[in-house]
Amino acid sequence: MSMPDKLSTYRAKRDFKQTAEPKGSRSSRSRKSDIAPRLRFVIQKHAATRLHYDLRLELDGVFKSWAVTRGPSLDPADKRLAVEVEDHPLEYGDFEGTIPKGQYGGGTVQLWDRGYWSPLPGVDPKQALKSGELKFTLEGERLHGSWVLVRMRHDRTNSKRTNWL
Ligand code: MN
Repeated sequence: MSMPDKLSTYRAKRDFKQTAEPKGSRSSRSRKSDIAPRLRFVIQKHAATRLHYDLRLELDGVFKSWAVTRGPSLDPADKRLAVEVEDHPLEYGDFEGTIPKGQYGGGTVQLWDRGYWSPLPGVDPKQALKSGELKFTLEGERLHGSWVLVRMRHDRTNSKRTNWL
């Protein structure tokens, strides 16, 4: 597994002597079973410089992650900006706490929802993320239903961030 590579950005941004966030050293769980394991999701309310909600979807041993400006939308017409951020370790799905001021993401992280997610039937999630549109369902404690992540074209934003809606 290329775990160290996937999490190198995550680790480079953090000083683990200063923050209690998980380093992500635990190896990902074995996938030898022929029954497909369920994929976890978590939404963390993050009171950083700006309050946002971090949506994390388990895929390939890490959490693919987006910072959603005003939290998940329950109204299909009300789209939310979701800024793609670095992959996070699966241990992050249980993390709550205060990241010290001055550290990356300084502020308080609270679990807001968690459960399982799945791509819509027939959707290959890796392919969907690559092509910029992922339709999925969430089965959490708060959230139940279908959402879609759509990548915005870079030329509209003129920024290095990868934005999704
Ligand atoms: Mn965050």
